[in-house]
Amino acid sequence: MRSVVSPLPTFCAKCGAPYGIECCSGSVPCHALSLHEGISRELMLNLKYRNSRSLGIPMGRLMGETFIDKDADILIPVPLHRSGRREYNQSLLLAEGISQVWNIPADDKKLFWKNDILPQAGKTSSSRHMMPADAMGSKSLEGRSVVLVDDVYTTGNTLRAAISAVEKAAGKVCSVLVWSRRVPSQDNEASWVKQ
Ligand SMILES: [Zn+2]
Repeated sequence: MRSVVSPLPTFCAKCGAPYGIECCSGSVPCHALSLHEGISRELMLNLKYRNSRSLGIPMGRLMGETFIDKDADILIPVPLHRSGRREYNQSLLLAEGISQVWNIPADDKKLFWKNDILPQAGKTSSSRHMMPADAMGSKSLEGRSVVLVDDVYTTGNTLRAAISAVEKAAGKVCSVLVWSRRVPSQDNEASWVKQ
């Protein structure tokens, strides 16, 4: 599994631009273990759509070994949408793997979706763009330094909603960790992975 590690240059979780330039207000660094392609993509599809739940922790451990954020005191996975039919949250498994390496808690009870209008999987990038900024809420995170964990970075829309929710709950997102980043030309894949 280690062969998939090919970290991308840090980019902004909110807008996708290279991190460190003046890209957008309140830029947040995002670290991706690899591009969403090859074995890395296969692993994620197996974890997400082919019920290979046992992959989640080792994949998360690999993320935790590759990246470190010393400011973090809690890992929060992006929640599954309630209208989805998935049995487990792959991002929670990744967060639990990172948690084992970093020795800070992973908590999936903080962030939640506020409504049922947008299932997470199988949406095209154009419909994801319609997600309102306040689509997610969070329980109090007063003074917490949060690392958000997600599976694949695509448009950044979900993460923007998550970052906004954390900030409204008085927390601070110090960084975002994702397994991989999908480039726009890969978007049509959503049509065949839906099973
Ligand atoms: Zn930005």
